[in-house]
Amino acid sequence: MKIHVNTGGLAETNGYLLVDEQHKAAAIIDAPQDTTESLLEIARTHGYDVKYLLLTHGHWDHLSDHEEVTTVFPKAKVLMHKLEEPRLQNPGSSLFELPYTIPPRNADGYLADGDKVHVGSITLAVLHTPGHAEGHICFYDAEHAVLFAGDLLMAGSVGRYDLAEGNVELLKKSLKRVLLLPDATHVLSGHGPATTIGRERANNPFIREMHVNT
Ligand SMILES: [Zn+2]
Ligand SMILES: [Zn+2]
Repeated sequence: MKIHVNTGGLAETNGYLLVDEQHKAAAIIDAPQDTTESLLEIARTHGYDVKYLLLTHGHWDHLSDHEEVTTVFPKAKVLMHKLEEPRLQNPGSSLFELPYTIPPRNADGYLADGDKVHVGSITLAVLHTPGHAEGHICFYDAEHAVLFAGDLLMAGSVGRYDLAEGNVELLKKSLKRVLLLPDATHVLSGHGPATTIGRERANNPFIREMHVNT
């Protein structure tokens, strides 16, 4: 199992390429602006079949490059939580006008809590983790101890909850839930460097302030 990351766009957002090298299967997790080209190039060069574009939520900075993915891999399915689909159908920022246009589209399918996504022999469990956005989801690979945390939890920070779609009580609940994962779990977030559950439990000031560390 291999994970490539690339960061880009106005909000410095992370996009990931998750690969099962043995089965040549792959998935892109979030598609920030100007991040997918090099990830898709890796996939093409190695003959990995990108089966999915998995979106943690519908904020524009996480889905700007969706069409790049499906242009290079037309069979790739775009999957997200149903509650986030309106932001893919009508992409943009509620705060300011983007200096570029994101083409609208529908999701190819929906992911809900408890669903499993298979990428070759890799299994991602879907955790519905609202708070930053109603339909925010995380992807958890228990076997390899990796959590794709989107904008729920970041190194030294947590997701914004002051936007229209935010809800602090739901965010606290979602944080409590992922903090129950083993300390050694690698946390790969939508913004910032990789971290671990243990490190965030011990050092994240927002987690301390919110009293979500049970
Ligand atoms: Zn977001
Ligand atoms: Zn974001």
